[in-house]
Amino acid sequence: MDFQLTEDQIAIRDLARSFATEVCAPTAAERDRKEEFPAAEFRKAAELGLAGLLIPEQYGGAGLGNLELSLALIEINQADASVGVTLSVHNSLVSSLINCWGSEEIKTRYLPRLASGEWIGAYALSETGSGSDAGSLTCKAQRNGDDFVITGSKAWITSGDQAGLFVLFARTGPDGNKGISAFVVEAGLPGIQVGKKEPKMGIRSSSTVQLHLDGVRIPAANLLGELNAGFKVALHTLDGGRIGIACQGLGIMQACLASSLKYAREREQFGKPIAEFQPIQWKLAEMEVRIQSARLLIYRAAVLKDAGQQHCSAAALAKLVASRGANWCGREAIQIHGGAGYCTDFPVERFFRDARITEIYEGTTEIQKLVIARSLLAE
Ligand SMILES: Cc1cc2nc3c(=O)[nH]c(=O)nc-3n(C[C@H](O)[C@H](O)[C@H](O)COP(=O)(O)OP(=O)(O)OC[C@H]3O[C@@H](n4cnc5c(N)ncnc54)[C@H](O)[C@@H]3O)c2cc1C
Repeated sequence: MDFQLTEDQIAIRDLARSFATEVCAPTAAERDRKEEFPAAEFRKAAELGLAGLLIPEQYGGAGLGNLELSLALIEINQADASVGVTLSVHNSLVSSLINCWGSEEIKTRYLPRLASGEWIGAYALSETGSGSDAGSLTCKAQRNGDDFVITGSKAWITSGDQAGLFVLFARTGPDGNKGISAFVVEAGLPGIQVGKKEPKMGIRSSSTVQLHLDGVRIPAANLLGELNAGFKVALHTLDGGRIGIACQGLGIMQACLASSLKYAREREQFGKPIAEFQPIQWKLAEMEVRIQSARLLIYRAAVLKDAGQQHCSAAALAKLVASRGANWCGREAIQIHGGAGYCTDFPVERFFRDARITEIYEGTTEIQKLVIARSLLAE
């Protein structure tokens, strides 16, 4: 990799930057306060082509790769991590999974709706009893003639109350990883009920809900990949999703640094701007170290994925470094702002709250370390 973005990549980054600053940033604080889903922002993103970045052109998408998606997500997350995760799940978990594992019929039926933004995609893997240990899930899909009938509950589903479809994982075989299958489930089907909406500390404008399925009947053709091979599908897809969450961490770090630089230059104490105090400068320098490290790891993971090479550990490294960095930067950005940073008049308290989730979803920090260590030990 020569670290030079192509003209097309710069164009995508700049398009996402204008969308982030002109559309997302002005409404971010209020949506966060009201816990309001960014419906208009998502629609605008879709109009700009940002909902179908990984979807091939023949299905109405932009046909681009994970590096381009990353460039866009970093910009969007710098303005608003809630819009960021909505688009990350839609693109890197749902659309990419259907594109990779769906039959031609399934791709033709669903990808154009996801690319145009007519439907938002949600990824339904977790349950109340199975988070890190996703292989222990209990939601069941039973074959019945030409259909599968699904019964069970899902937890923590991002955009679950807004979605047109779910990629849903259910048990079709024995206990453990080898008895799980992946399906496309349309949201409007009889038997699907959206449950509790989770009240959250951060990414409050993104919606997170429980889902209950009671005898939901779907065509057997909606199976994604092979029967009982869904766990592999879930993990493969999460490798890409983790690059998206790393972009969220990086975007939050960039937002923290930008706010901190501005404030440190303007705020005077002891007769001079606080930027002139070395402890403040160290914090700014430490933020830049984390930002640049995360950027390199994200680009590397995205380039490996786009080249079809092994990227599981690279994605985990990027997510680990970017998410820890985002939490560090959020904390220190508030410190640089002093009391002002603790209040909602400045955006850094939102950045701090939004950063927290990046170490939890799509695999906790502890799970990323297990993935990295497993890859080292396998060498
Ligand atoms: C806001 C939000 C949005 C989400 N969106 C989605 C979504 O769209 N779709 C979806 O399917 N899920 C989603 N999730 C679920 C998320 O992926 C899980 O919360 C996450 O995987 C952790 O699972 P858990 O919460 O059950 O924690 P647990 O697995 O119970 O973990 C609790 C603690 O134990 C640690 N731990 C667990 N196992 C090990 C181990 N083997 N070794 C070391 N430490 C371990 C964890 O690291 C953590 O610190 C979302 C969650 C949140 C909070």
